[in-house]
Amino acid sequence: AAPLTGFPAGAGGEPLYRDARAGVDDRVRDLLGRMTLEEKIGQMTQIAVVRLQGDCRESGGELTEACLRTVLRGHAVGSVLSGGGMGPPVNTPRAWARMVNAVQKYALDHSRLRVPVLYGIDAVHGHHSVLGATVLPHQLGLAAAWDPELVRDCAGATARAVAATGIDWNFAPVADLARDRRWGRYYETFGEDPLLAGALAAAAVRGTEDAHGAKDVASTVKHVGGYSEPANGHDRVPADVSPRYLQDTLLAPYRTAVEAGAKSVMVNSGAVNGVPATASHHLLTTILRQRWGFTGVTVSDWQDVRALWTTYKVAADYPHAIALAVNAGVDMAMEPYEAGEFTEGLRSAVQGGLVSRRRIDEAAGRVLRLKFTLGLFERPFTDAERADGEVLGAAQDTARRAAASSLVLLRNERNILPFGPSARRIVVAGSYADDIAAQTGGWTVGWQRVPEDVKVPGTTVLAGIEAAAPAGTRVVRARDAADAVRQARTADATVVVVGERPAAEGEADSPRPELSPDQQELVRSLKETGRPVVVVVIAGRPLALGEAAGTDGLLMSWLPGTEGGHAVAGVLFGGVNPGGRLPVSWPRRTGNEPLYYQQLPGTNAGAESTHDVAYDFGDGLSYTTYRFEALGLEAATVPAGRDARVTVRVANTGGRDGDLVVPVYVSRPVSRVLAPRRRLVAFTRTRLRAGESCTLRLTVPARALEVTPGDLDGAGTPRVEPGTYTAAVGARTATLTIT
Ligand code: BGC
Repeated sequence: AAPLTGFPAGAGGEPLYRDARAGVDDRVRDLLGRMTLEEKIGQMTQIAVVRLQGDCRESGGELTEACLRTVLRGHAVGSVLSGGGMGPPVNTPRAWARMVNAVQKYALDHSRLRVPVLYGIDAVHGHHSVLGATVLPHQLGLAAAWDPELVRDCAGATARAVAATGIDWNFAPVADLARDRRWGRYYETFGEDPLLAGALAAAAVRGTEDAHGAKDVASTVKHVGGYSEPANGHDRVPADVSPRYLQDTLLAPYRTAVEAGAKSVMVNSGAVNGVPATASHHLLTTILRQRWGFTGVTVSDWQDVRALWTTYKVAADYPHAIALAVNAGVDMAMEPYEAGEFTEGLRSAVQGGLVSRRRIDEAAGRVLRLKFTLGLFERPFTDAERADGEVLGAAQDTARRAAASSLVLLRNERNILPFGPSARRIVVAGSYADDIAAQTGGWTVGWQRVPEDVKVPGTTVLAGIEAAAPAGTRVVRARDAADAVRQARTADATVVVVGERPAAEGEADSPRPELSPDQQELVRSLKETGRPVVVVVIAGRPLALGEAAGTDGLLMSWLPGTEGGHAVAGVLFGGVNPGGRLPVSWPRRTGNEPLYYQQLPGTNAGAESTHDVAYDFGDGLSYTTYRFEALGLEAATVPAGRDARVTVRVANTGGRDGDLVVPVYVSRPVSRVLAPRRRLVAFTRTRLRAGESCTLRLTVPARALEVTPGDLDGAGTPRVEPGTYTAAVGARTATLTIT
């Protein structure tokens, strides 16, 4: 072991890097100066705690020395993760905190320089791996609320729960786009629009990093970049996208989120235009570091450094794969599959001149900087005894508000909703009505979803309806489809809850994202009774409804989480005035895709129009009425590269208070390169009392108007073309001239 002499000392004679008052850069430099090559490589390694399962687990979540050695491989591993939320066998917050503390203690005790580990987890919709934690709506539902403040609150609540269990690093938010419904991770996104997704991902970054919980928590913008359009809709299949589309559309939300101050990014597992993202110097260094100014940690996705050799075959062996990834810009390898192999491989790559020592210092230095910034050297542990109190039942108000804000009412014929006093007998049908596992979606307790034998505490739609039904209204639960139809004949209304089984990643891929035939048949039979039918959908994507279309009411509830039942019941009985708007386009039928609203001119020709939607991006009904009264520009002429400012006068012209989403779109009468006919450039959500009107000011960021110029190569620098633009809010328009 290298002696701790000849280095600067901090206050009290301690090595400088241990001095909390020293600057972070000085501490990093000092610590790096004391480390061996192997120790630096250790910082670049992240090992999955899932290896603790089986033989290595003891009841109660206490870990043996032997199993910790197995996980940390006796190496100075820099980071540990609970991938897919794999945790202790007794899944309480306290058991989690004890496990994380035990890992940390082992790491500190066995690290020559007492360098703490960074513990990572996927907490993408609350701290959902922990039994009893409040589960928030998945990202796509949050996107339907069009409310960055709400997303910020949700991320903050999640980060505080994560911190209470001792965890420092959250692999969220997802800044990929929802543009292919077949893709299993569609529901993990903030929708199809780059501006909306970017604004919400940025809000999630801020909410995580400013959460002020028991520990600081770093966010991760993932999966950089262009992960969401695998060519055939299957997760991690290579994507072929034009450089212009990649730059102007797919990369935009990651950029906004990175610029919000994210401390880390995770790399796309897939390949884009023939280059695995993990090996792309252009993506991970030229774009991410040089253009976007990112200074944090870049972590690979699961076993992806190795995949350069084994899956993508762009490297002849593991050391060459490691060299490719590290030279491209990967600072940390997630689960490199055999830490020893990775350490050996990287060491031989350095010794063989494939990777420079400078690059190792840079990567390890970034990981250490993150640890110093999070205060891990000073506060490596959490108080496990407080974890249950801080996590169980916390954030229920936030979860309920989030679920309620995210509901999108798509049909309300003859104002069937909200149910009034005449709805005295309501039948509740459909298996999803009483299915908390479906409500909470993928990545919950188990990686794919809640395991069959586990009961997650929460309120189902049925329970929510029973709790919210006014005195004098009888709620009848239909036993099965036949009973539902029989009961519906004499009911004042039937609420039929349908959906799709949740799953995670590739298991959720679906070539035909539509309502199952038996559910379509159930709704069709209910419609035939001639009595009012309201369909509630619990799903992570819009499903083609087929025979189930055309009911009196249609409410999209996404994957609303443990408080979702209260939120749905609130809309049904009027306690909640729905204000959500679709963050994605809803197809009439499967196959007429891709469906996003930002189609290029030329795609809408003929009867088989690709944008033949059942419901459009931005659609959603309310129990009150609104009017966009005026749209103005603070300056009608704006120099290219400057933000523009619009004012919108809005009024609630109906009889109920409500939330109004105000989207500002811009179009160009003429553009040299094909530009989407409509682009969202600004939005807000505002509360208006019945009869109230107000003037809103919104900023249109210069970047929202950028396009990449040039010919077929399309690889130029994005810029705003001077000329005439039309801004629109509803039917109101204003002409903006860019000079
Ligand atoms: C997913 C990531 C996730 C990681 C760790 C991967 O399979 O693609 O989104 O953060 O696992 O669980």
